[in-house]
Amino acid sequence: MERIGAHSHIRGLGLDDRLEPRANSQGMVGQAKARKAAGMILKMVQEGRIAGRAMLFAGPPSTGKTAIALGMAQTLGPDVPFTMIAASEVFSLSMSKTEALTQAFRRSIGVRIKEETEIIEGEVVEMQIDRSLTGATKTGKLTIKTTDMETIYDLGTKMIDALAKEKVTAGDVISIDKTSGKVSKLGRSFARSRDYDAMGADTKFVQCPEGEIQKRREVVHTVSLHEIDVINSRTQGFLALFAGDTGEIKPELRNQINQKVAEWREEGKAEIIPGVLFIDEVHMLDIECFSFLNRALENELSPLVIMASNRGMARIRGTKFRSPHGLPVDLLDRVLIVSTRPYSSEDIQEIIKIRCEEEDVTLEDEALVVLTQMALETTLRYALNIISTAQVLARKRKSDKVTTDDLKRSYSYFMDEKRSVQWLKEQQGVLVFEEIGAEAEGEAMDQS
Ligand code: ATP
Repeated sequence: MERIGAHSHIRGLGLDDRLEPRANSQGMVGQAKARKAAGMILKMVQEGRIAGRAMLFAGPPSTGKTAIALGMAQTLGPDVPFTMIAASEVFSLSMSKTEALTQAFRRSIGVRIKEETEIIEGEVVEMQIDRSLTGATKTGKLTIKTTDMETIYDLGTKMIDALAKEKVTAGDVISIDKTSGKVSKLGRSFARSRDYDAMGADTKFVQCPEGEIQKRREVVHTVSLHEIDVINSRTQGFLALFAGDTGEIKPELRNQINQKVAEWREEGKAEIIPGVLFIDEVHMLDIECFSFLNRALENELSPLVIMASNRGMARIRGTKFRSPHGLPVDLLDRVLIVSTRPYSSEDIQEIIKIRCEEEDVTLEDEALVVLTQMALETTLRYALNIISTAQVLARKRKSDKVTTDDLKRSYSYFMDEKRSVQWLKEQQGVLVFEEIGAEAEGEAMDQS
């Protein structure tokens, strides 16, 4: 069963080949300028041109800042690292703020390591497998016709099982990875096989001493710098990767690893893949973190840093100064700022429809109009949350359709932020802890 999260409907940025935003694609609706900007940045990341830069998504709550960042992650492809943290995660008792940020940075840098394996590929002429014997003693012979000659293979149990799994018969075109023993079927027509053509780019033909025609293909693994750090840390060891609690890593170890990776690069064994670090609610970082970020972005091994904030003018934590988005001006100065704007009612209606589909909820037509109106008067996120509570009410009535009435009842049970603030005002003097002003409260948090 797949879990349904707040952003599970987002499958990409929904852009076409020219990076133009499609009206409704990959779960994304509206916010065209920000999506296009995100697409342009991605293009530069993919070309390896934007390491050590930073961008900031700035806009009101529920305008898709996190959704767009996730869309970017999905577009990047599996071996470009994408790390997502909330700024508050940096404040932990088990490690310093700068260590937490350093780990996040190093998680976002991939090291692509290449290894060569030998591949033999060709059309199966004949297979003789002795099935009379059981278990580990199965043996046999496989004759394969490569481009212009024949190769005979002695088969062990593992290879026989692999051939059986792929249902290989005479006439099939297969490839065998001699290192791992993996067998893959490539389609029936050897010369015309599209799979075979597609493999051409990263393979080279090698004339082996025995006269076999074989291919060598490079197998590529991508790991993050942080994973290399943890695996090589004497106090941690690789099991810490599974526990997630990796503790602090000594700077000397990191220097050694940087040197080793630099050597691999020179020898052509490894390539650095700068990825993306997304820091949500970035105004929650304090001045020390911001100064660290400024310096870390200068480093040769730095990812693209994307930040998001829904604050306007806000106090920079750890200082008495106010600044746009709560970021110091020297950091703001080096950041590409992309703004997100409140959605139109048409966009909101589309997003609600997408979410209903994702959550498997059927809304009556009138209810869709009412929910859109609710989103305009409260927030998009509130309206999206109400979908599932209204569904619970509909089910209680033994109906599979959510009506306006279900929405209204949900609306009365759960407050949105505006009504909650109003209620707090009405309760003045009754609730505990309410004397401190907003500024003083921030100071108190910093001191604690
Ligand atoms: P905050 O400042 O409060 O963190 P945000 O700008 O990060 O808000 P999101 O969390 O991205 O907002 O958006 C709120 C909800 O609306 C999420 O469920 C998100 O997936 C959905 N959403 C936002 N924008 C879009 C969009 N353009 N297309 C589809 N879904 C969207």
